Amino acid sequence: MKISADWLNTPASIAVMQMLERARKQAYFVGGCVRNALLDQPVNDLDIATNAPPQEVLKIARDAGFKAIPTGLEHGTITVIHGNTAFEITTYRRDVETDGRRAVVAFADTITEDAQRRDFTMNALYADARGQVFDPLGGLPDLLAQRVRFIGDATQRIAEDHLRILRFFRFYAWYGDPKNGLDAEGLAACASGAPGVAALSKERIGAEMRKLLSARDPAPATAAMAQSGVLLHVLPGADTRALPVLVHLEQQHNFPVHWLRRLLVLGGEDVQKNLRLSNSEAKTLDASRRIMEAGIPPAKAGYLFGQEPAQNAALAMAALLSNDISLQDIAEIKRGARAEFPVSARDLMPEFTGKKLGDRLKELQKEWFNSGLTAGKDKLLD
Ligand code: ATP
Ligand code: MG
Repeated sequence: MKISADWLNTPASIAVMQMLERARKQAYFVGGCVRNALLDQPVNDLDIATNAPPQEVLKIARDAGFKAIPTGLEHGTITVIHGNTAFEITTYRRDVETDGRRAVVAFADTITEDAQRRDFTMNALYADARGQVFDPLGGLPDLLAQRVRFIGDATQRIAEDHLRILRFFRFYAWYGDPKNGLDAEGLAACASGAPGVAALSKERIGAEMRKLLSARDPAPATAAMAQSGVLLHVLPGADTRALPVLVHLEQQHNFPVHWLRRLLVLGGEDVQKNLRLSNSEAKTLDASRRIMEAGIPPAKAGYLFGQEPAQNAALAMAALLSNDISLQDIAEIKRGARAEFPVSARDLMPEFTGKKLGDRLKELQKEWFNSGLTAGKDKLLD
């Protein structure tokens, strides 16, 4: 089996692989880039596995004139930068002992050992510089059958690192087969390990949920998280029932995926804190919530909060009520988002000044809202 992908044949990829080969080291692309190339899907980042120890990778890269940064020396990772491409080069590893969150690592000599410490069989695929695929653990059949399966004993792998629970659901959302459901052994292990999620940092939980909810259809994975008791530790109070309805509406009307819209429909307590949302994410989510709670009409919502939050609110509302989405509402939101209030302070001066001016402007804006954002300046000043 061979992969062919744009990223494999860029000057940067060729140069970085050659650099290791010339130093007589083994080097393989590994993980997401190989998996996604086999699926003909876009790739997020390029990871390389090598038998060279990290200090040596650093030296080889710098001697070859590349920028190299020891980004994760304790687990063997050096980031090598060529042009504007970054390569994470990690020395073959095996996990030797664990403290429940992070495995203590030792370096290894073969990709078979390196593969054992990875999470899922579909993530333990390797490819050499020519695109030849190496599959030490039988991940390829799983990938093609869309089976997300833990490497080794699921319960033990989760005990080593509880982040793997969230990764299990995330990879299922992206690469699993909704017809076959989740791997039963993995799901059972996630259910028993669920309380361990509470010990993960909110940043990591948030980052995983962001990726999970960005899948084309995260509903089956999210429902499984709820049923197995994992969601409770991620986002207490969340309710997954309207999510499939939302996804259906999005697909029917060709709305691009927006993870905050999915989050909006899930609800839950202290979302900003529990998922460490950025201020701008929290603001977008909050705006949609306010539109929904106050029942702000579409054009006004678009004007006050912008197109994205208003559109998310309209879609979420429709999903929660199991209604179809009104395309007229969407058009109104767009109109509102572009609209400009036609009266300025200048138009009211010198008749009005100070507080009276402010009050008058507010009054006129209210009239403008009542007109559905249609009244012009003359009409309002009349
Ligand atoms: P993405 O497309 O999201 O980047 P990815 O498979 O590349 O997917 P990364 O998080 O970038 O995922 O990790 C790179 C590889 O490292 C994975 O494919 C997997 O082999 C391994 N890996 C990452 N996190 C873990 C973990 N918590 N436990 C075991 N292996 C892991
Ligand atoms: Mg990756």
